[in-house]
Amino acid sequence: MPRLLFVLVLAMTLQSAEAQFSKRLFDTYDAYAFSGISSRRFTHAELMTHLAALQQKLGPLMTMEQAGVSAENRSIHLLKLGSGPVKIFLWSQMHGDEPTATMALLDILNYIAQQKESPEVKAILAQTTLLMVPMLNPDGAQRFQRRTSQGIDMNRDALRLQTPEARILKGVRDAYQPEIGFNLHDQDPRYTVGDQGTVAVISLLAPAYNVEKSDNAVRTRAKQVASTLTLVLEQFVKGHLGKYDDTFEPRAFGDNIQKWGTSVVLIESGGWKNDPEKMFIRKLNCVGLLSVFHAVAVKSYVQNGTMPYERIPMNTRTLYDIIIRGATVTFPDGRAPIIADIAVNKEEVRDGGVSTWRGRVVDFGDLSVFYAHEEWNGEGKIIEGAAVELNDIVDLPMLRAAVR
Ligand SMILES: [Zn+2]
Repeated sequence: MPRLLFVLVLAMTLQSAEAQFSKRLFDTYDAYAFSGISSRRFTHAELMTHLAALQQKLGPLMTMEQAGVSAENRSIHLLKLGSGPVKIFLWSQMHGDEPTATMALLDILNYIAQQKESPEVKAILAQTTLLMVPMLNPDGAQRFQRRTSQGIDMNRDALRLQTPEARILKGVRDAYQPEIGFNLHDQDPRYTVGDQGTVAVISLLAPAYNVEKSDNAVRTRAKQVASTLTLVLEQFVKGHLGKYDDTFEPRAFGDNIQKWGTSVVLIESGGWKNDPEKMFIRKLNCVGLLSVFHAVAVKSYVQNGTMPYERIPMNTRTLYDIIIRGATVTFPDGRAPIIADIAVNKEEVRDGGVSTWRGRVVDFGDLSVFYAHEEWNGEGKIIEGAAVELNDIVDLPMLRAAVR
């Protein structure tokens, strides 16, 4: 095979050893998933209990030290595993209401504890040093809000460093100078991949380190890592990966950490049909990260190049939760009926610690350019205008019955 063609073929497929490892991780996930968490609303105190249990299981394989405390004095911990030359730094939940990856980190720790004698885990621990800071914003997590308790979006505090949480992140980064970093977030579950209307289950970004969005050795390595993650995840969710906008944001951590010399990949956990607690996306995070750790340990990730990442379609926002198509909307006061599409998004309502979901009409009219998680056929069905007014809460069971 000519060399160029050979390189191209290599760049678009995962090597079979890596593919087998990730498939095994995917297929056996239930056997090693951390069972202590099954809801995305967990507190700092619960996380501490879980980390203590995992510390017991991991023994000397993991050390846990307090990296500092939040503005409200909650402890923020740095976990260290492995003794290899390549340092991989992962931090999650700098936005308190974005916990998906924190759960995945617990799954990863449980997997390492269970499989410590496996060749893959041995390679990871011998060739890499894993540095993890789960739940960087515990005060925000307590309130299930994005910002810190001081009202700051930590991801705009990388330069001013006004929050203790931001200083901890920068402090760990500077102390260890890791080669590779993962900035772990959640995004709106209604982003789509390109304009195809398929939901973005995960979006990736190798952030820019300057306004020109140049490539240097650091960002190129980030793109190689992102490409490896892309090839791994495409085995399970092909067509559902999006690329996050790479406009340089001078105040954000991802962009600055790239600039400071750590190759950063942003992972945004998005949406998946019938997965409001994001448990499937948690699994994808876990499988993807463990696979990448191994690819870094054996250095196979470099051969994946940057193209698998570069060719991912952009994240776009064209998705609603439900669209009722072509319903006849009537008005009892004599205005003529109209044919309309009705877009409804589900909202979570918390009452006494219990979540319920209700629908709100968010768009109305010709919605033929939009997509939805659920498409309900309203053709030939009659809905009263008063029941589907824009911005109002709707009775979802009533609507469902009306278009059946
Ligand atoms: Zn975020």
